[in-house]
Amino acid sequence: MTTLIDDFNRRVRYVRISVTDRCDFRCVYCMSEEMTFLPRAQILTLEELSMVARAFVELGVEKVRLTGGEPLVRRGIEQLVDEIGSLGLADFAMTTNGAGLVKHAKALRDGGLKRLNISLDSLDAEKFRQLTRTGDLHKVIDGIRAARDAGFERIKLNAVVLKGRNDDEVVDLVEFARREALDISFIEEMPLGDVSDHSRAETFCSSDEVQELIEARYPLLPTTESTLGPSRYFRMADSDSRIGFISPHSHNFCSTCNRVRVTVEGRLLLCLGNEHSVDLRAVLRRHPGDMDALKTAIIDAMPLKPERHHFTTDGDVQVVRFMNMTGG
Ligand code: SAM
Ligand code: SF4
Repeated sequence: MTTLIDDFNRRVRYVRISVTDRCDFRCVYCMSEEMTFLPRAQILTLEELSMVARAFVELGVEKVRLTGGEPLVRRGIEQLVDEIGSLGLADFAMTTNGAGLVKHAKALRDGGLKRLNISLDSLDAEKFRQLTRTGDLHKVIDGIRAARDAGFERIKLNAVVLKGRNDDEVVDLVEFARREALDISFIEEMPLGDVSDHSRAETFCSSDEVQELIEARYPLLPTTESTLGPSRYFRMADSDSRIGFISPHSHNFCSTCNRVRVTVEGRLLLCLGNEHSVDLRAVLRRHPGDMDALKTAIIDAMPLKPERHHFTTDGDVQVVRFMNMTGG
């Protein structure tokens, strides 16, 4: 079987596919308050998304993650999960804000989705509302429990930490994860899109600072565990919950990068922090149903994967895409 290897000898085993740019939340680090979303003709259809996933699996990819925007607001998401769930992946995951899980968790699990990452930045309903602008904390907590009841194991929370906004809740979030038997990763904010709500230079909170806050209460033991993603994992002596750190600034993870992304418009992005891309939608629409053409375009894109990203923490926007376009 042909596999995907880039010019730095990294094998691509993992693709993240964004299924929508829309969302029912407007998180302050991800979107501006007023967003214009893409017209339907510009986004990949469910059939095109399914074909893209199949092409990557036929090229040796072992893990697919669906993301967005909010994947659960895409009409037909359950059908797409059924189709990708039948491809025999080693790992099939979704990143969601959790608000739609009461409604969808069981069907997603039955369709073959194996793992969920659920974003949760605050346990204080008012603060949660401020950070997400529209979100209802209780709906998300109910969603987390519905996912567990549906049989999802090792659910992972994702928290973006902003200084002065939710850094005082880091230990509370860890304690919530411990009580609910969840894993949790803390994410450094990335300079994607001009978000206007805050100055990123002021809110930047490094993973080392977050780690220090946790270690004051729970000593962390390093592990070599990996889920093929960018998290570095730690364990606590008295709990099954894992603590992860995603640190694009302070612990550059490019040298082991095995990931590519497909945006909702079908752009294959070789790196989150760079604009190198290939237009798969054009290939899909020029050669409808032609799997070989699609696979060739993906193979030919590999030399475009850059060696590393160059994010800085001075607040400059280096990539004009918002995170909801790229898929987190
Ligand atoms: N809507 C889903 C959710 O929130 O989980 C999936 C898409 S969201 C873009 C994926 C992840 O990216 C979320 O965990 C979110 O917190 C994170 N994210 C969004 N904007 C970010 C930024 N500027 N820096 C770091 N992480 C960001
Ligand atoms: Fe929506 Fe997720 Fe972005 Fe929040 S982080 S606005 S939930 S896409």
